[in-house]
Amino acid sequence: MRISKCFVCGNRCLGLKGQDTICDTIFLQQGHEDKKVIKAKAFGECHLSCLIKSEWGVFWARRIMENFVQVRNYAVIAHSKTTTLLRSDKLRTTYLIRDDGWIADIHDKALQKSTIVNAGYLLPVKEVFYLPLSDMPPLIDEIKSAFQNRHHYYLRDLLNALALRPYLIYPIAIEKGLLRPLETEASQELAISANAEYAEFIPDELVTTIWSNVDIWYKPRLEDY
Ligand SMILES: [Zn+2]
Repeated sequence: MRISKCFVCGNRCLGLKGQDTICDTIFLQQGHEDKKVIKAKAFGECHLSCLIKSEWGVFWARRIMENFVQVRNYAVIAHSKTTTLLRSDKLRTTYLIRDDGWIADIHDKALQKSTIVNAGYLLPVKEVFYLPLSDMPPLIDEIKSAFQNRHHYYLRDLLNALALRPYLIYPIAIEKGLLRPLETEASQELAISANAEYAEFIPDELVTTIWSNVDIWYKPRLEDY
């Protein structure tokens, strides 16, 4: 079982939406900078908070943008300060790429279910969460007993236990986040599998820019939900 590590700081990376991202080598080209990135192993999973402060954030923002525009044909629909908004109507998703490497993908459905908080919006995230914890058996026991006793475990407690709280870019988004046991839990001795329910924070001005450029409420709903 591989423990995912942030390529910038070397600490564990949980892959939380809105907090972490993947700088995937599929975005790389043949240039001199790309060779430098490979040599420095500056790719893979990372905390967004680490990426934007690192020397690699600007490079990755550029490469991801080039891929989204030239390869995936996403349309550039607006700019908000240093953030570019791209859109795939087919996927009903708006992509935000900031010059420093901060990136978000926002499905229309998440935006429709968002709640307003100070300075921004919280978009609900629900996903199956898998975390190898072979190095921390006591934490596995703690989570499993919480699952048995109260049917949930706070995501913030997990982040505290793993000393990852300082790496959150928007702590408010996981404050009420929960892990819940899966209906049918496969026997995992050294890992946690759970349903994760938390939020993704998007700043005010970006949500406003999306609302004014995308006709989200009037799009026909797709069959699958
Ligand atoms: Zn990091």
